[in-house]
Amino acid sequence: MLRDGPRPAGLPGGVHLLQRGWLSANSIVFAGRDDDAGVVDTGYVSHATQTVSLVEHAIGTRPLSQIVNTHLHSDHCGGNAALQLRWPSASITVPLGYRSAVDPWNEEQLSFVETGQRCARFCVDGYLQDGDELALGAKVWQVHAAPGHDPHALMFFEPHSRTLISGDALWEHRLAIIFPELHGDSGFNEAFIALDRIERLAPRRVLPGHGAAFTDVAAALAQSRQRLERYVRLPHRHRDHAVRALVVYHMLEHRRRELNDLTAWIVATPIFRAANAWGTEAGGSALAAAEVVESLMQDGLLKCDGSVVTIPEAEM
Ligand SMILES: [Zn+2]
Repeated sequence: MLRDGPRPAGLPGGVHLLQRGWLSANSIVFAGRDDDAGVVDTGYVSHATQTVSLVEHAIGTRPLSQIVNTHLHSDHCGGNAALQLRWPSASITVPLGYRSAVDPWNEEQLSFVETGQRCARFCVDGYLQDGDELALGAKVWQVHAAPGHDPHALMFFEPHSRTLISGDALWEHRLAIIFPELHGDSGFNEAFIALDRIERLAPRRVLPGHGAAFTDVAAALAQSRQRLERYVRLPHRHRDHAVRALVVYHMLEHRRRELNDLTAWIVATPIFRAANAWGTEAGGSALAAAEVVESLMQDGLLKCDGSVVTIPEAEM
């Protein structure tokens, strides 16, 4: 799914939402009349060529001067390196919380090793934190902490048009994985705090990390809170959802895998062990991994043809 969707009424001029699917997060491109161009979030690494051409198309002859990330998950920063190669003078600015991991490019701390995902290495020029201001296009955007899904994530708010770039802190219909909880760390509470912050900002429209722009912010907040409350009561439901979502994400990247290779990948990928998805029984992990794949097939999210697992063309 790739489209520069119809601009919702009131979106600041020169702002384009490049709506992608689930493998690549959305990009928000800033290309006003008089300013240099900028982009927030850059998709997954395997879509990097496509991201460069989409950005080229959106900014025309303006140089890209600024690349900003809401957070450093692989689906949000995988195009950074390719964009900087295309526009070498573009600066890359990321949330300050990643500094100790991203400076030495520690892939374990950056979550790429842990999740079995990939990201091309890039160099960071600057950092942002809660309370900062960020010039994007012709406007000044407020920088707000957006913990929960990721402890270091940020969101950007433009107070005149009341536009919020929410990253993965708020989607219209779903709730992103609350990653810290998979490690036994606190995340649900922080996610509630991020939602409260959004409510106080009272955005008129949200440009989310995945999905279309939306204006019924109250409904999205209510739905996210409801899901969070359920996960607080039943944390294993969150873990099961996360495991399934991470396997589907892996298949969105690979499209086709031998069943044995897929289950071996699940068993070997640290996040599933960290989430204690399999218990401690010897051999339990392979069995449980096969059960996850089986349940995704039963739900039609994956298909199996002989020994080959594929993912239907429509993205989840
Ligand atoms: Zn994310």
